Amino acid sequence: MVVEIKDKNLYYVGGVVRDEILGVPSLDTDFCYEGNAIDFARAKGFEIVRENPDFGTVRVLIDNKEVDIASTRTEIYPKKGHLPIVDNIGCALRDDLARRDFTINAMAKNTVTGEIIDYFGGLEDIKNKKIKVLHSDSFIDDPTRIIRALKFAVRFGFKLDDATKKLQDEYLSKINYDMSYHRLKKELKETFNLNNAEVYHNFVKQSIYKLLGPEQAVQPCNFEVIDFIREVNPENIWLVYAGLYNLTRLELTKTEQEIIDNFNLIKNIKPESEYDIYCLFKNCPVESILMYAFAVDFTVVKIFFKSLKNIRLELTGDDICELGIKPGEIYRKIFDYLFEQKILGLLQTKEDELEAVRSKFLCG
Ligand code: ATP
Repeated sequence: MVVEIKDKNLYYVGGVVRDEILGVPSLDTDFCYEGNAIDFARAKGFEIVRENPDFGTVRVLIDNKEVDIASTRTEIYPKKGHLPIVDNIGCALRDDLARRDFTINAMAKNTVTGEIIDYFGGLEDIKNKKIKVLHSDSFIDDPTRIIRALKFAVRFGFKLDDATKKLQDEYLSKINYDMSYHRLKKELKETFNLNNAEVYHNFVKQSIYKLLGPEQAVQPCNFEVIDFIREVNPENIWLVYAGLYNLTRLELTKTEQEIIDNFNLIKNIKPESEYDIYCLFKNCPVESILMYAFAVDFTVVKIFFKSLKNIRLELTGDDICELGIKPGEIYRKIFDYLFEQKILGLLQTKEDELEAVRSKFLCG
């Protein structure tokens, strides 16, 4: 446990408890106070950074670290698939744990006694490497849990428990598309950012892609390309995978939309020479190129990365100016020509490049 605060009503909760049992490092430490966490933080005299009375959460500063403490709470889903509303702040710990996604994430550990509170069989499921929902409406309340299940299964090498898999299949056969796509996007990002072949394989095999909207065209898993994507490790990894589907329901940032738009621009083009390959990809975001590798043609992308991507000319604009050519549109033509000649292997040195410009653009 990364941060220590002790109180008999204060519990470590969720992922941090799961990770300690699994013996893996935790991404963060979540605390849950059985009662009102804001009142608790004030009574303890903690330095309060921020409080949110609507959710009963408080952020405090302890040993120069910001720590979030949540009140126990229940949640209800008046609109299935959308964010829940907070119902009962300060409820019994058991009721708080019952609102959670999976048994392995529904355990708490008392900060004083160290007792593990496990009402739903999380310990047993960790032992048996199972992801299990807490009730049969779980995916109807929050379909993004299907993506979370995929994430945890791959991260820990777990499997969906049979009944949970059945509930997932049932949900995916009659999806309610009126859902929180903001949440869906967040979970998709986290899950695909694992950049793991098994994530994509199961995303397809279990038909999870259907959550993105009806009438999606399936893009089969391509393990060889996934190895390559892992090697390249681009910034927006998630989009290389999810972008192969119709994402119109997700709110994309400008950069994300550009990646999709660029892929759509190039996906039907088949380059016929190395120079064509160079031209096709030279101004594309790396994610769009990787999508092309996945969905269209890996061979040309390999050629681009191996021998074309880093091609540089020796000549600069100043050198061309010194030849007496006035700056303007002609410079673009000159550089295009030089790149073409260089890719064809006809230019080795700066002098070769100068000579090529002279003979093509200055003679006659
Ligand atoms: P990670 O290590 O990826 O952060 P985590 O379990 O801590 O895993 P968070 O997304 O930080 O995951 O959520 C913290 C806890 O909140 C979870 O352990 C779970 O108990 C609960 N939780 C998160 N998302 C949901 C959800 N969609 N439905 C129900 N409970 C959830």
